[in-house]
Amino acid sequence: NTPLHELDPEIAAAVDAELLRQQSTLEMIASENFAPLAVMEAQGSVLTNKYAEGYPGRRYYGGCEHVDVAEQIAIDRVKELFGAEYANVQPHSGASANQAALFALAQPGDTVLGLDLAHGGHLTHGMRLNFSGKQFHVVAYHVDAATGLVDMAEVERLAKEHRPKVIIAGWSAYPRQLDFAAFRRIADEVGAYLWVDMAHFAGLVAAGLHPNPVPHADVVTSTTHKTLGGPRGGIILARSKEFAKKLNSSVFPGFQGGPLEHVIAAKAVSFKVAASEEFKERQRRTVEGARILAERLTAPDARAAGVNVLSGGTDVHLILVDLRESELDGQQAEDRLHEVGITVNRNAVPNDPRPPMVTSGLRIGTPALATRGFTAEDFTEVADVIAEALKPSYDAEALKARVKALADKHPLYPGLNK
Ligand code: PLP
Repeated sequence: NTPLHELDPEIAAAVDAELLRQQSTLEMIASENFAPLAVMEAQGSVLTNKYAEGYPGRRYYGGCEHVDVAEQIAIDRVKELFGAEYANVQPHSGASANQAALFALAQPGDTVLGLDLAHGGHLTHGMRLNFSGKQFHVVAYHVDAATGLVDMAEVERLAKEHRPKVIIAGWSAYPRQLDFAAFRRIADEVGAYLWVDMAHFAGLVAAGLHPNPVPHADVVTSTTHKTLGGPRGGIILARSKEFAKKLNSSVFPGFQGGPLEHVIAAKAVSFKVAASEEFKERQRRTVEGARILAERLTAPDARAAGVNVLSGGTDVHLILVDLRESELDGQQAEDRLHEVGITVNRNAVPNDPRPPMVTSGLRIGTPALATRGFTAEDFTEVADVIAEALKPSYDAEALKARVKALADKHPLYPGLNK
């Protein structure tokens, strides 16, 4: 029972350094968040030791009486949170949840219709090197070049032309809300299943700040670590039990073996948190912070520096910065912000003239800072630092000092430092 710092100082040093990085910089990667200590405590618990193939009450191993309790609580809580009749909390990640969902609804070779990766879709929605693109016939829909909004007329046209088995609605980089009812109508017109991947906006849905896809979709998948703020993992939900057997057997034994019961317990804790008033208030600050960023980065001085925001604003927890008219490309802009202590990721804009490793855009999100306690006033200051950093000439030292002041104002995980 030697502590980590004694047993493995090299790994302990990496963990300590990562804690310091998270504490001293401003985390604005839209898919990241800070899990509460209680979530990390459950995740670091003895439940990591337990094999529990199967589902609560129907396991292939003995001694599952306590993990059964934890997994059933996770299932019940997430069903309640999203108004679902069915939930599977075992997927190890968002990609695993998506793989299980897609194989439950379709067979290899079937046609699926998803949002193009370069227009904001996820790898698992049909990217050519992903299992989805390799094993299914993928047709991609896009955002409209002028408005930046998903082109529903194109979705309908492609659906009628290709008659997909599954239509995928969901995104990794899109600043607006999807019209789930319109997707449902199109799916019904062509006899397709509708699968919504709400990985990014699940926290907003839980807080009632975003339409809930569960009543519209046949299957809904999500991660638990983005806006939802829980441990790294995935879930599958459905409005009815129609696909319950198929989905369960697709997860286990289809793609996974033993579930990560320690992570499932941590998911349960995060679902409890997500049902709280404090969580709703945090999600409100998340969306407000993104709006503040969008306003600041479309102000005249930002526009003069060639900076713009796709779709002109945001309804969610992120903005997409358009740098096609800036002298900075996505990589250079990401590096600039990194230099002053703000972490974001570069991101392709639709029809990006630059290669995917460079890009002409940035994706900037507010969930992690909202969790840290940032208010509208703090987000106004962050937005101004970003706007200044993206100008042709900038004062790196002054901006670093402003970032440090913000980080100091909202301490993260105080007491964790060794
Ligand atoms: N689905 C969407 C929409 C995502 O954005 C992501 C992750 O970025 C995933 C699925 C995959 O989640 P994971 O990285 O946990 O596999």
